[in-house]
Amino acid sequence: MPYDLIVLGSGPGGYFCAIRAAQLGMKVAVVEKDKTFGGTCLNVGCIPSKALLHASERYDEAGHLFERMGIRLGKPKLDLAAMMKFKDAGVDGNVKGVAFLFKKNKIETFEGVGRIAAAGVVEVTAAGGNSERLEAKAIVIATGSDVARLPGIEIDEKRVVSSTGALTLAKVPERLLVIGAGVIGLELGSVWRRLGSEVVVVEFLDRILPGIDNEVCRQFRRMLEKQGLTFKLSSKVIGVAAAGKTLQASVAPANGGAAQTIDADVVLVSVGRVPYTGGLGLDEAGVKKDPKGRVIVDEHFATNVSGIYAIGDVIAGPMLAHKAEDEGVAVAEILAGQAGHVNYDVIPNVVYTHPEIASVGKSEEELKQAGVDYNVGKFPFTANGRAKVNLETEGFVKILADARTDRVLGVHILGADAGNMIAEAAVAMEFGAAAEDIARTCHPHPTLSEAVKEAALAVSKRAINM
Ligand SMILES: Cc1cc2nc3c(=O)[nH]c(=O)nc-3n(C[C@H](O)[C@H](O)[C@H](O)COP(=O)(O)OP(=O)(O)OC[C@H]3O[C@@H](n4cnc5c(N)ncnc54)[C@H](O)[C@@H]3O)c2cc1C
Repeated sequence: MPYDLIVLGSGPGGYFCAIRAAQLGMKVAVVEKDKTFGGTCLNVGCIPSKALLHASERYDEAGHLFERMGIRLGKPKLDLAAMMKFKDAGVDGNVKGVAFLFKKNKIETFEGVGRIAAAGVVEVTAAGGNSERLEAKAIVIATGSDVARLPGIEIDEKRVVSSTGALTLAKVPERLLVIGAGVIGLELGSVWRRLGSEVVVVEFLDRILPGIDNEVCRQFRRMLEKQGLTFKLSSKVIGVAAAGKTLQASVAPANGGAAQTIDADVVLVSVGRVPYTGGLGLDEAGVKKDPKGRVIVDEHFATNVSGIYAIGDVIAGPMLAHKAEDEGVAVAEILAGQAGHVNYDVIPNVVYTHPEIASVGKSEEELKQAGVDYNVGKFPFTANGRAKVNLETEGFVKILADARTDRVLGVHILGADAGNMIAEAAVAMEFGAAAEDIARTCHPHPTLSEAVKEAALAVSKRAINM
């Protein structure tokens, strides 16, 4: 009997889609080319990077903060192999969790590369070369993304690494050169800086973290510089050559000019990710892609070929796990005749450095460009009681609200635990809240979240603790 749905890929998009479809009574199969489920996110993305960020942050705290709190342990010693084991155990627990959920929801799984042979037909080729044909009423492409490469710079995952190699280095590099000041470059650059590397970040643009509110980024850059990261903005790496044990990167001004050489032991190429459609047979199946190689879908995630849908990193939009998850759920509900939907105006974005950056909605630059009149409410963590006792006073909360209606248009948090706090703002925005609504909501004391309430009060110039 054919399946109701075949999902290609078991990352956050694919596995959420499969589980929701099974919950809705569909007979579901998942095809995954890798040995473990969970995709980029669980295997080589969100989960291992957060494990190393967490562990390296504790290591850094033990070295710098503990004494100030009266905890004397002596100088902490790094056991990198044990830290990597800790990270791998976290990954293992998570990928096994997905396998458990597939079983629990009676989802059939196939290991191999899935190719769309025709609408409704998927051919799965296992590593040994054996292949089988599966049939389904609907196919969802959730094949995710791959590392973007730079012409002329070959990634060997040993000395010239992508994020994947940077998560498994066997030794702390003395000098790490990071190409690209986006989220992944800054997160992994922070990990290795805390563990002892000298880190230089080269960025083509004149700012870090393009797309994130400029005021937040300016302050954040100064914080990272204080932590020891060095930035070379408006610059591009035009080549990396090996000279014995040293790598020599040629770094030129972005708009041309003489190059200088920067020596490094490891170079991390983190210049973004590209949609992954290898082996899928999209051209033969007639599925259209845009010039960036992303599968084109309509507002119901349908491609131009009837019965074929796509979600996650392989389509347009922010390459984020929670965006892929929500699209997976939405397309499953649409296939079941329900009104699945994703609100792209309220997708939070988090940079898991220390402090964290978390934002949702519009930045000031976007509102200015759109000609929207807005009020700003800002509250610094230096004025938050819990932040003071925790010695976590860096950063602020900024709320942007419509000048006429007071509706919240954007929330930006730079500070410890910002990633957890932004969820409140996302819920408020989903409900169309005004800054007044957040301001009048009782927040627990003493918590960092009171800074969100105070920023909401500050929109109408009535913050209490400032
Ligand atoms: C270092 C790093 C850190 C990140 N941190 C975060 C973070 O903190 N928060 C966040 O939101 N996002 C983060 N991301 C991004 C996040 O991982 C992706 O947005 C997310 O994984 C996309 O999910 P997806 O389901 O679309 O695709 P993927 O997770 O890429 O999964 C696609 C799956 O499809 C499989 N596949 C591909 N082709 C085929 C085929 N033909 N047949 C069978 N299987 C196939 C692949 O093997 C893979 O398992 C991070 C990414 C990286 C690299």
